[in-house]
Amino acid sequence: MIVMKFGGSSVADAERVRSMSDIVRQYMPRRPVLVLSAMGDTTNHLLAAANSALKTGIVSTCKIEELHLKIIEELGLDVKIMPLIGELKNLLLGISMIKELTKKTKDYLVSFGERLSVRIASAYFRKTGVNAKPIDAWEAGFLSDDNYSQAWLLKESWELIPQKLIPLIEKSVLPVVTGFIAKTKDGVITTLGRGGSDLTATVIAAACGAEEAQVWKDVDGILSGDPRIVPSAKPLAFVTYEEAAELAYYGAQVLHPRSMQPCVKTGTPVLVKNSYNPSAPGTRIVAAVEKNGASKPVRAITTRKNVTLVDIVSTRMVGQSGFLEQVFATFSKYGISVDMVATSEVSVSVTLDAAYRLDQLREDLLKIAHIDIKTCKAIVTIIGDVERSSEILNRAFGVCLKLGIQVQMISQGASKVNISFIVNDTQATDVVRGLHKEFFDF
Ligand code: ASP
Ligand code: MG
Repeated sequence: MIVMKFGGSSVADAERVRSMSDIVRQYMPRRPVLVLSAMGDTTNHLLAAANSALKTGIVSTCKIEELHLKIIEELGLDVKIMPLIGELKNLLLGISMIKELTKKTKDYLVSFGERLSVRIASAYFRKTGVNAKPIDAWEAGFLSDDNYSQAWLLKESWELIPQKLIPLIEKSVLPVVTGFIAKTKDGVITTLGRGGSDLTATVIAAACGAEEAQVWKDVDGILSGDPRIVPSAKPLAFVTYEEAAELAYYGAQVLHPRSMQPCVKTGTPVLVKNSYNPSAPGTRIVAAVEKNGASKPVRAITTRKNVTLVDIVSTRMVGQSGFLEQVFATFSKYGISVDMVATSEVSVSVTLDAAYRLDQLREDLLKIAHIDIKTCKAIVTIIGDVERSSEILNRAFGVCLKLGIQVQMISQGASKVNISFIVNDTQATDVVRGLHKEFFDF
């Protein structure tokens, strides 16, 4: 069996639902389980409706009804969505009356998006002769803790999911499962975090021992660079889980690292495919990629802009223990997440996202060290073969030298696939283009 997941934009209107179902039909011999997100921007519309109920007391499900009814009409379906819409209206009324919108209520609220989506899609499959069955995730074994808006699945799910889904597949049913949502043991609806449908898909694939988890997006796979910066960037045939996780963090459009975890555990391949271009091979994310003499040292180049560089210098650091602990405790106090780190005997440099308020941080750090904060920086990241790091660094710095650009900080893990360095924000585009040209012949 395989798992196929389509995101909101792949089921955003009647046309997209049709082409999604055409794709799924071709894969029927491989016995798919389908996972769907809410249609189009429904999740955001639901949140907006709740905010308006909360702030203005206006209860309206217009946008949500309109989108779904239009799709139902255009596909010529007979699906009764009014019971769900009625339940949603009651909920919004409740929010407007008690003037409160907790995370718990929000999870219940956004669950309507995925629940509508699988019912409509299943009806279309049935109309076209496919024996599909809409399934709310909790009926498919998705049990979670009560960490609302970011729930974690309970261990039991791993056994429950195959128990519920495999018998359906054996009866040649196409299960159409809601992404993103689950229930607690007490029967309260939860969500797995924004974009959580990917996780639903990878958990099903891993728990059922599927051949692969396919994630259908609107790009040809994971690219060697950001196409907005490097128009000639090409999709990669293979990347490792580790490389994909690094790329996700550094701004490439891939799966969230959290959603790859289940497949990492079982070694299940994740295939990223383009629903607008189904014949493109896509990118396969696997445990290890075979290397040979012809392999390129670099797999992908990314950049993350608008980064702040904090330079912390103290002579107290020499031969002392506990200094870094103090430094990091200060970041932690302000809830600031540190990305890159580089240290010497007397200084430590870290990078942060620019969004943080830095004044208090500076004041606190000044008690223990000299501080220099530089904004408008960019992280340039090379994902490559660390066993060839000297070659990569030599060529990369050659590119910077040619461009007359000074590298301001470098970091490379001991065994990791990531080499990162800092340049000015304004230089990042040139550096990434230069590197792409250096390491790829396209
Ligand atoms: N519909 C949810 C969201 O928009 C989950 C998903 O799309 O994966 O975040
Ligand atoms: Mg979505």
